[in-house]
Amino acid sequence: MHNLMDLANLIFPDVEMTLDDLEKRYPPRNLDDGCEVTRFAPSPTGFLHTGSLFTSLVAQKVANQSKGVFYIRLEDTDTKREIEGSGNDLIKQLKIFGVIPDEGYLGDHEEGKYGPYKQSARADIYKIVIKYLISIGRAYPCFCSHEDLDALRMSQEVSKVIPGYYGGYAKCRNFTIDHQIDLIKQGKPYVIRFKSMGDHNNKIEVDDLVRGHLLLSENDQDIVIFKSDGLPTYHFAHLVDDHFMRTTLVTRGEEWLPSLPLHVELFKTMEWKVPKYAHLPVIMKLDNGIRRKLSKRKDNEAACSFFLQDGYPVYAFKQYLFTIANSNYEEWQRDNKDLKLDDFKFTFEKMSLDGALFDIDKLKYFSKELLASYSGSKMKDAAKEYSKEYNQELYQLIVKDENYFTQIMSIEKNKENPRKDYEKYSDILEKVKFFYEPYFSNMVSEGLPYNENIDKKVIVDVLKDFVETLNYSVSEQEWFNNLKLLAERHNFAESNKVYKANKNQYLGSVNDVAEMVRISLTTSKQSPNIYYVLNILGDEEINRRIYLSINMLLK
Ligand code: GLU
Repeated sequence: MHNLMDLANLIFPDVEMTLDDLEKRYPPRNLDDGCEVTRFAPSPTGFLHTGSLFTSLVAQKVANQSKGVFYIRLEDTDTKREIEGSGNDLIKQLKIFGVIPDEGYLGDHEEGKYGPYKQSARADIYKIVIKYLISIGRAYPCFCSHEDLDALRMSQEVSKVIPGYYGGYAKCRNFTIDHQIDLIKQGKPYVIRFKSMGDHNNKIEVDDLVRGHLLLSENDQDIVIFKSDGLPTYHFAHLVDDHFMRTTLVTRGEEWLPSLPLHVELFKTMEWKVPKYAHLPVIMKLDNGIRRKLSKRKDNEAACSFFLQDGYPVYAFKQYLFTIANSNYEEWQRDNKDLKLDDFKFTFEKMSLDGALFDIDKLKYFSKELLASYSGSKMKDAAKEYSKEYNQELYQLIVKDENYFTQIMSIEKNKENPRKDYEKYSDILEKVKFFYEPYFSNMVSEGLPYNENIDKKVIVDVLKDFVETLNYSVSEQEWFNNLKLLAERHNFAESNKVYKANKNQYLGSVNDVAEMVRISLTTSKQSPNIYYVLNILGDEEINRRIYLSINMLLK
């Protein structure tokens, strides 16, 4: 007759360390009460998902504001789903978004005393815990083949019972130790399952920081905790890692909520303190009136890189994600324009329960506000960094003459309410093209949209007068007064109001005059404030452009 220790030794003959050894190697962290240890635990299965970034930002924020520790752990035990190199890429992308952990997996290396932080490097640790669970009869080898499990699933479907490996359906659970040892010695393949003591009809009480007090059915499933490839499943790895890395608060996507009873049972079985949990809402999208999860395959917005490519500033994107995190964030930021995200106090109570709806307009709002607040030179630097990576055409314009570009980006920045010209960096090229050749000439050759109700000869006269008399090295106000005088010289009223009151007396108003100048200099009826455009273009270029127009008008 064999005992459980024989079984444990047969399965893990080389494992000599004990739980106590692990406790000593990974002692409780020396932190004050209230300091939270949080983590972000991505799997290396592809690009950085917007929902994952959201989760990581919350974990980081909670740790930072409690003066705790935020670490990153790479959950790479599902080798079939792993995409080569994506662990490293995730770290690089997280860094772009400022998600830099205090310790943990950092791509090409790791930092911290609670590692390794990559699950595939932790097999030895998992084995110690599994060996212990086998030795106390709370884990056992399961010899069921895929075919056995398929047959079980089908029979459960037919008899309409809850599917899974549990209770009377857990065939290998009640094998005698001798039988288990025999089968192993015969070389029968097996996995290790957790032996649940739960009853689905009983309820357990758990607190979730987002969802509050919950009453959930106990776990009764004997889930696989250790696969035949020598690696644990997520459930078991989470138990071991979050315990020995001394996580105090698990923040993760709400898709893990149904697993919570299982996780609670695992922690209780080990007599370890159950961490606090916060299951975060999934980011949804409105698709033909129906709410659905952002899909990796269908939605561009699912990948954080999409927003970088499209030219949204990182900070604005983070601000946007915080509106999903806390319903009061937007108002707080409006009321405290000078404060930064770091100053915002995040609370789980203010997190929405239903999946948050992705709202691109809100992102645009934050982005516009942010870009409007940048100085010309900051905008130049940011646009340069963006375009270097994503828009060579714009990049070439910027580096050709950084000063010139900075002047363009500085237009009306000195005003109290700076213009909100740009939603994202990718808007810039289209809006500044007219400052540059050969864009300007190409645009001119497509025709200039002068008001057809005004005689071309009049336009020519106005433009000539403009180029000969108007000095723009004066204040904006003075310049505009002079423009009014010029308008009057050509029979245009000094204001729209005056024109409207005496339509017969005038050809139009100063606005029409400004439009002629604007079109000649920029090819368009809409442009930034013309006074600033003049100052940027300078005498020679103004002359060239105005005479180009005059010649076209005279043709
Ligand atoms: N690796 C899991 C995932 O990517 C993480 C879940 C967790 O944070 O515990 O969904």
